[in-house]
Order: sequence, then C-alpha cells, then structure tokens
Amino acid sequence: MSGKELEMGEMGEFDFIRSIRDGCIFSRQNTVMGIGDDCAVIGPYGDKVLLITTDLLVEDIHFILESIPPEHLGRKAAAVNLSDIAAMGGAPLHLFLSLAVPSATKVETLHAVCRGIKELCRRYRVNILGGDTSSSKDGLMISIAVLGEAPMKEVLYRTGARPGDLVYVTGKLGDSAAGLLLIRHEASAPDSIASPLVRAHTLPVPHLKAGRLIAGSRLASAMIDLSDGLVSDLGHVCEQDGLGARLTESALPLSGPLREFSVINGLDPYVLALSGGEDYRLLITVPFRNREPFEKIFEGGKPCHVHLIGEIVETGGMRMVLADGTEKEVDLKGFDHFARAEQK
Ligand code: ADP
Ligand code: MG
Repeated sequence: MSGKELEMGEMGEFDFIRSIRDGCIFSRQNTVMGIGDDCAVIGPYGDKVLLITTDLLVEDIHFILESIPPEHLGRKAAAVNLSDIAAMGGAPLHLFLSLAVPSATKVETLHAVCRGIKELCRRYRVNILGGDTSSSKDGLMISIAVLGEAPMKEVLYRTGARPGDLVYVTGKLGDSAAGLLLIRHEASAPDSIASPLVRAHTLPVPHLKAGRLIAGSRLASAMIDLSDGLVSDLGHVCEQDGLGARLTESALPLSGPLREFSVINGLDPYVLALSGGEDYRLLITVPFRNREPFEKIFEGGKPCHVHLIGEIVETGGMRMVLADGTEKEVDLKGFDHFARAEQK
C-alpha cells in the first residue's frame, strides 16, 4: 500500500537538493564541480576556471516589499550572489537578472531595484549582460546569476577541512538575524542600536577581497559563506567526511549593538550568532600549521577582521566550550526553507 506522498515540508531543502544530485552530469568535460558548493566550477580555461552561482529572492519569503527600500533589495539580491563567488575565492565578472513581476507592481519600484543592482555592480565592476522578465501571479521574484573566475589551483571548496583545522570567520555574527527581528517588529531597540542591525540585514557586504586574499594565499583548506547560519553552513563543511566541530562560545564575535539588543529584548546573542542566517561572512578552515601566516594576512583589520572561533574534530556533531570550561552539544538548526514552514 502506498502511504501519503512525501511533501517538501517533510523532506527539507537540503535533503531535496541531495535527492536530485544524481544523474545531472552527462559530459564530464569542463565540469570541475556541479551541485553541492557555493558555485559551480567549469573549465579549466588556461589556468583559470569559471565560477557560476544563482540565487532566488521571493517576496514574503526573503523580503517584505514594504519593509525594504527597493534599491536596497536590488543591492542585496546582487550581494548574496557575489558572496558565493567570494566563498570560492573568485572575482565576479558578469551578472544576469531575471524578474517575475505582478502586473500591479509600480515600474518605479523595479527601476529602483535595478538601480540598486547597478550600484553594486559598478562598485565591483560586474557587467549586467542579460536576464529574463515574466509576469507573476503571486509576488515579486528576483533571480540573479553571477559568473566569476579564479585561478584553478586557488579555488576553495566546502570540502577539504581536516580534523585539527582551525575555524575562522570574517567579521561579526548574528547582526542580520537581529535586524530581521526588528524589521518584523518581533523585537525593538532604540535607533542607534537598531539601525546598524537592520543595515546588516538589508545591505550585506560580500567579502570579495577577503575571499581572494585567502584563496591566493593557499593557506586554507575549505571555505563557505554564511547564508543559512553558522551551525548549518559549518555543518556543510563537516558533512562530507563525517567531521565535527568544537566551538568556543566566548570566541564567537558579537557586535556591540547585538549585545545591547539582546539585553533589551531578553534574547541570547549566541543563539542569533549560531543559527541566525544571512550574515554573509566567510567561514574558513585553516590547517593548524598555517595559523600564523593566515592571521598575518588580516593584521591591522584589513580588509576585515578574522576571528578564530573553534576547530574541526574527527567525530560528527557540533560542541561548544562554555566560559566555565564545560562542553555542551549545540542543539540548534540553521535556516531551511521547508523546516521553517513546518514550525508554524
Ligand atoms: P548557497 O546557500 O551557497 O546559495 P544552496 O544551499 O542554495 O547554496 O545550494 C547548495 C547547492 O545546491 C548549490 O550547488 C546549488 O547550485 C544547488 N541547488 C540548489 N537548488 C537547486 C536546484 N533546484 N537544482 C539544482 N541545484 C540546486
Ligand atoms: Mg553560499
């Protein structure tokens, strides 16, 4: 007897992606990496490879049109793609923009979205080379694809971490999650605290310079950008080889505004740092022997600060060393589109 057919809400985003991975490659030629990393990698062309990534932003899932200036929405839609190029150690080159638009949408809103995309593209010298435009029956959808390049030998993948490797992040964690709570009116704070947090959510900065420097140094073993939350994304780094991680709670980098926000709202900032998504920092693993030269790259905080937050360990699961020296299992999840739908 066949039971009820499995629904996406029961399967989850990541199991679904795994379930479609087989049978996708029909010619290995020029395919270095397909489904499973921040970008697909094709080539080599000379000593370089092309990097390709795409991300979809859906109204009322990824953004509330009334809660974000459309220019910022455009910048964010482009930035999250550039962040995936950064995560491979690449430089972005070209962008394609596809829109599905309800008929009642004001043209000026779309023009503003495009201005935001162009603004970010101008800053990183990325060309906008095409796309597609369709009507939509239910909300605005923005799909962006970005092409980039990197020297073949420098590309960093999610896989490659080994037990004993150190875990670093490029910048503070959890601000974006706090910003989202503020935007949804699920938390409150005075302007001086709220505005940097909301900004972290609406205007994430892709860490392209840091990504290139790290890849060019050849000192790291793996890299990923933090889009779904530290627990989830570090989980991807550990996944392939059944590895685990031991993090140090006091080492998790929290901003001043996040600490104050958490006190005001009675929230645990570490939970936001661990499971809140959309920080768009890079997470890097570095073999212990490379610690000094790696940290030297970021001496003086340029192009950003890196924070050592823990290490990779042999056995699966994630553990946290607390201030009193005791260890506990990290029992949190990152963002999964369909897991969240289940929670209601
Ligand atoms: P990221 O958060 O870095 O954008 P995702 O978690 O969205 O990465 O995706 C992980 C991998 O799964 C990527 O290689 C992506 O291209 C692939 N992927 C996601 N959804 C699909 C899909 N519908 N069809 C094919 N590949 C997909
Ligand atoms: Mg990514």
